[in-house]
Amino acid sequence: MAERTFTIHALAAELKAGSLTSQALCRRCLDSVAAKDGEIRAFLKVDAEKIMRLAAESDARRAAGKALSDYDGIPIGIKDNICVTGETCSCASKILEKVVSPYSATAVQKLVARGFIPFGRLNMDEFAMGSSCENSSFHPTANPLDTRRVPGGSSGGSAAAVAAGFLPAALGSDTGGSIRQPAAFCGIVGMKPTYGRVSRSGLVAFASSLDQIGPMTNDVTDAAILTGIISGKDPLDSTSLDEPVPDFAAAARKGAEAASLKGVKIGLPAEYFISGMEPGVEAAVKAAVEKVRAMGAETVELSMPHSKYAVAVYYILATAEASANLARFDGMRYGNRIEGGDLTETYFKSRGAGFGNEVKRRILLGTYVLSSGYYDAYYLRAQKVRTLIRRDFAKAFEQCDVLMTPVSPNVAFKFGAKSDPLQMYLSDIFTIALNISGNCGLSMPCGKDPATGMPVGIQFMAPHLAEEKLFEAAAAFGEVR
Ligand code: GLN
Repeated sequence: MAERTFTIHALAAELKAGSLTSQALCRRCLDSVAAKDGEIRAFLKVDAEKIMRLAAESDARRAAGKALSDYDGIPIGIKDNICVTGETCSCASKILEKVVSPYSATAVQKLVARGFIPFGRLNMDEFAMGSSCENSSFHPTANPLDTRRVPGGSSGGSAAAVAAGFLPAALGSDTGGSIRQPAAFCGIVGMKPTYGRVSRSGLVAFASSLDQIGPMTNDVTDAAILTGIISGKDPLDSTSLDEPVPDFAAAARKGAEAASLKGVKIGLPAEYFISGMEPGVEAAVKAAVEKVRAMGAETVELSMPHSKYAVAVYYILATAEASANLARFDGMRYGNRIEGGDLTETYFKSRGAGFGNEVKRRILLGTYVLSSGYYDAYYLRAQKVRTLIRRDFAKAFEQCDVLMTPVSPNVAFKFGAKSDPLQMYLSDIFTIALNISGNCGLSMPCGKDPATGMPVGIQFMAPHLAEEKLFEAAAAFGEVR
């Protein structure tokens, strides 16, 4: 289990004081990966030589008084669907197995400009489609807290790398819960920023209207620091928002210091407190509700009546967008190609061999819901319900400052436990609506399930661009491990 002190802010202080060098830190991370990742398998690739070269450069900068920021020399893991110049970006798919990024994602560029060292390529469900990391085309990743169990997904490698103590932080992506759910399964913090807060340039698109990059960390302050760094308008992503980026880290520090929720109105939507949750999850979430009340928050019971349609709406919109986005992977410009007798046959063969079953299922579903005759019945109708779900959130935030809900109805499950796709889809029931509405949300540990000893997560959600409020409340609440 990761130590609470393995945080970006604590490491920054050590680097500043001179009690730690980037080379010592990166060597320590590489050693623990070498010792334990054979069992966990969080990484698809780690280029140790390059990491140590970048660490030496960072130490030299710092020695010369030219550190790029307080964080210069700190390693950060990158999910395999986020581009880093010169590194492979396979999205854990065979079709992109050998593709090397010609540029870095804007989020990565912003981190590198502050001296962070991109550390390895982290495993995921193929093209971010899944909730367990079992859909990786290369190998599954194990939960470091119990290796018989999944780490969650799709950012399972990112969550496992942080929970195993390999790295202080990692970037993930969240289209329907892929940062928040694995964070909950592994007992760490996962943040999905407001849609448009973080540039999607250099993130391989799954469902463009839902995707966001966000950090996965050991505490809320680190999530706030990283979200602040990667946020902001980017000319390379027209959906990125031209809004000022407040000092999120200051908001988190303020919350942590106050350790009080006096004056905060916390909404509890009835649709998220349903029967069918595992008893250990229900108990931990109820305890969290009691805790916020004891900390002075006013809790408001409210209803978000269209929540029950969220999973259905998501699996129409996300598959429709994915079927269009993934059309570009045809073995022509990049990726694996299997030659056929003619162009069509080459497409069929390349895509047939390159994509795994879940990805194929989604492309088929997405093509179907967009096809003429079905477009109105499925896609158009789902867009309308999306509006209703958005309105639910807007109305809820008229009554409260933040919403508080479970992250997942269950703790990390055993490999193979959810072999029926529909069962897997249903496990996203509490995370998906937030992507549909575009609001920001964060998942953090709130206790343990006594039956399995696995962590339980709690989710805080806030209005558009209200990350400050979110970080302040979450840091005040404090991680319960
Ligand atoms: N589990 C969801 C899915 O399979 C969400 C994935 C994600 O957020 N990338 O689509």
